[in-house]
Amino acid sequence: MFESLQDRLGSILNGLTGRGALSEADVSAALREVRRALLEADVALEVVRSFTDKVREKAVGAEILKSIKPGQMVVKLVHDELVAMLGSEGVPIDLNAAAPVVIMMVGLQGSGKTTTTGKIALRMKTRDKKKVLMASLDTRRPAAQEQLRQLGAQTGVDTLPVIAGQSPTDIAARAVQAAKLGGHDIVILDTAGRTHIDEPLMIEMAEIKRRSNPHEILLVADALTGQDAVNLARNFDERVGITGLVLTRMDGDGRGGAALSMRAVTGKPIKLIGVGEKMSELEEFHPRRVADRILG
Ligand code: GDP
Repeated sequence: MFESLQDRLGSILNGLTGRGALSEADVSAALREVRRALLEADVALEVVRSFTDKVREKAVGAEILKSIKPGQMVVKLVHDELVAMLGSEGVPIDLNAAAPVVIMMVGLQGSGKTTTTGKIALRMKTRDKKKVLMASLDTRRPAAQEQLRQLGAQTGVDTLPVIAGQSPTDIAARAVQAAKLGGHDIVILDTAGRTHIDEPLMIEMAEIKRRSNPHEILLVADALTGQDAVNLARNFDERVGITGLVLTRMDGDGRGGAALSMRAVTGKPIKLIGVGEKMSELEEFHPRRVADRILG
């Protein structure tokens, strides 16, 4: 395991107890360790830079207190800043719109989009007592449509029947229509992913958005995404306009740096996290826990 940041900063700074304030040089030495910890946690480089700049501003000249070791003091500063950057906890999916409320799920292939669609549908059905309709817009992979149908059968949530040959945008429009006729409160559109971001994918997402007028557009991303997290989040946000993030595989042994990267570049809240393959394994986001994990 990595040596904890607290230990590393302790060995650099704790000798300063009894001196007046943290100097520029003390803070620079400490921030080298902070930077290392964040990079080990897979926080994207540009986010690491802006983060350490913020901490530097707060730390230089900070008075060294007698009651707390300087190492701990800087760890607390770093932790507080991480929590602030990660954003508020428990930001719910906004259902405050005329029914049927459309939720569009976007993300790369394999990010956990279909699984998360099923999880969110089940949660809204059981917790919020909503009538939900799920629709797969992945016309390229019949297996994806079948996967969603099976999740619907498993969770007791309606799925839109597949009509062969329909385009993703036509399916989106049909889903909204079917929800109106069927008295559904919510429609969740599970869009197609790709292995990487490309122009046709972004055009398709923008077109689906135009046809279905979603109230929420949630970017589903693997928490283990490394340095690519920034690119991914920025692209989807600039081209499609996301309203929130869902991070999957938070049950994995990654340190969760992608959460910070994606939140920092988009400013959009992390609304939920996936913590396993089962339909019940969806949780609220707790910034403090993620900050602890990033710091190790
Ligand atoms: P999609 O291609 O984006 O629709 O991805 P899928 O929903 O098919 O998920 C890909 C794989 O990731 C499946 O094996 C899922 O069971 C798994 N998966 C999804 N979310 C999570 C999660 O939060 N934790 C874990 N451990 N596995 C997940």
